[in-house]
Amino acid sequence: MRLLLAFWLATASLLADAHIFVFHRFGDSRHPSTNITLSDLRKHFDYFKNHGYRVVPLSVLVRALRNGDSVPDNWVVLTIDDSYKSFYENGLPVFKEYGYPFTLFVYTKATDNHYGDFMSWAQVREAAKWGELGFHSHTHPHMLSLNTEALKADMQKGMALMEAKTGRRPRYFAYPYGEYDDRVKAVVASFGFEGICNQNVGAVSKGSDPLDLDRCALTGRSNLPAKLRYRHLNAYWISPVAWPAHDTLTDVHVELGPGESAQKAEFYVTGHGWKRVTLHDGVLRLTRPIRLTNSRSRLILKVGHDKINTKLLVKP
Ligand SMILES: [Zn+2]
Repeated sequence: MRLLLAFWLATASLLADAHIFVFHRFGDSRHPSTNITLSDLRKHFDYFKNHGYRVVPLSVLVRALRNGDSVPDNWVVLTIDDSYKSFYENGLPVFKEYGYPFTLFVYTKATDNHYGDFMSWAQVREAAKWGELGFHSHTHPHMLSLNTEALKADMQKGMALMEAKTGRRPRYFAYPYGEYDDRVKAVVASFGFEGICNQNVGAVSKGSDPLDLDRCALTGRSNLPAKLRYRHLNAYWISPVAWPAHDTLTDVHVELGPGESAQKAEFYVTGHGWKRVTLHDGVLRLTRPIRLTNSRSRLILKVGHDKINTKLLVKP
């Protein structure tokens, strides 16, 4: 009995909010940084299976968020970026074996131009029998470096191809390189997506924005239980909203959303590590200059051990 209780407590403590994971290549040792071996994939899938997690399609999670339903703690969503051939050849059979749904974000130019490492349209259509399709841009650009007109043109071209080749207009989008800001988000959202995925470490709860869903990368080196412990901190970034002038943050302003309260928190900036901070009436305000040293910098506000909200800043 005591053992059962200990097991239940250990399991219960791991269940916290829904989590979206992203994969790229499968069983392809030529690119270790974006690859997961099939034995590591099975190890993670077995973990989900043996610890009470339920793998649901992205559409199910997005629908719950849009309906204002609570999000069960044991939901996991699996996504695949770039539509590499190694997913079709190596990854897909394992997903089928476990019966796990997925969302495949297609890089349309690579598929349409038969780039060597990428799936064909026939393979994309075949994969869609076991999962959902999303869009991952046409040319896989660094979106912040495109002006709004060029960004719209890229989106239009890829969306038209997705519709023509798969017979459906994609309802989900994932940013190339996980890079975005408010302007990029507004352009992408204008295409009517129901869900948009970033690549910020975090989790998804009832308060999450369906057009700004955090996703964690999953590779063989990933500490899966640690990633599953993250919870979503409901918070709004008033400032900064984009890369700051002179590469220097001079006003950090974050407000906790409904249902959140904390006086003590921790604040992370890439290159500066974690620092303790104090909130006043749910508001964090930092005015001491912080120089950003990395052209992709993350700001993370953390309450308690694992409740986080991330702001990504990319130097244009
Ligand atoms: Zn990509």
